[in-house]
Amino acid sequence: MTVLILGGTAEARALAELVQQAGLAFTSSLAGRVARPRLPVGPVRIGGFGGVDGLRGYLRDEPIQLVVDATHPFAEGMTRNAVAACAAEDVPLLRLERPGWAQTAPEEAASWHWVDSHAEAARVTAELSQRPFLTVGRQRLGEFTEALADHQALVRVVDAPDLELPAAWTLLTSRGPYTLAGERDLIAAHGLDAVVTKDSGGTWTWPKMAAASELDLPVVIVRRTPPPMGAGGDHVVHDPAEALSWLLARGAAAAS
Ligand code: NAP
Repeated sequence: MTVLILGGTAEARALAELVQQAGLAFTSSLAGRVARPRLPVGPVRIGGFGGVDGLRGYLRDEPIQLVVDATHPFAEGMTRNAVAACAAEDVPLLRLERPGWAQTAPEEAASWHWVDSHAEAARVTAELSQRPFLTVGRQRLGEFTEALADHQALVRVVDAPDLELPAAWTLLTSRGPYTLAGERDLIAAHGLDAVVTKDSGGTWTWPKMAAASELDLPVVIVRRTPPPMGAGGDHVVHDPAEALSWLLARGAAAAS
């Protein structure tokens, strides 16, 4: 019985530890997007599978009996592929996804500007901010450059983006977790007047939201797309310990 953990998140690393302690055979998979990834314990493979067909081949060749999709809530392509490949190969799939911030901080969330896309976030931000703090990751920054070309944006990313940023923007490469005091200082040092983010959830990047709330800054936040359902994708848990229980139950059922 070998488990595949689709990772790239703190939850996936926590699950790898639990699975290793439980003595199950497993491999973690990373996309290879960042230059110096935080590695989970245990065996790791790095790089895309080559779409649904590539992942199907991987599941067959290893072979893999159980999959946990513990990728980031905004890694929608990988989640879609996992649902399709696991359905086609009849491999049980569990989605491990941290709760969104509206669930953990409903009071603050009620005052945020919720949008459905990065493009809409750019338009809304252009109207309500002169000096936005852009914390939307590197991949979708291109959707902000035109609308915010004349804004004094501070852009924080793990690795520098490939695209050319507007001259008025300041680039900051760094990696969380962050502290409330640090975020407060950063916002003050750059005179930032809004925080732009996506609904990543979790505690690692929460301090910027706490600082925005404390300083009464507007927050523009991109909603999650609901995960695809069906074929095992309808099993969703929010906690690595629950994911381990699911694996142990499935493993025991297969062994009996
Ligand atoms: P994505 O757009 O959903 O995935 C694009 C492609 O990247 C997938 O089709 C797959 O390539 C490959 N891929 C993604 N995750 C993979 C994994 N764990 N193992 C092997 N291949 C993977 O994903 P993304 O948004 O670029 O995220 C990439 C990784 O970064 C994910 O592991 C995610 O957990 C992590 N991450 C993402 C964000 C975010 O905001 N999106 C934030 C923090 C961490 P093939 O089609 O070739 O298989």
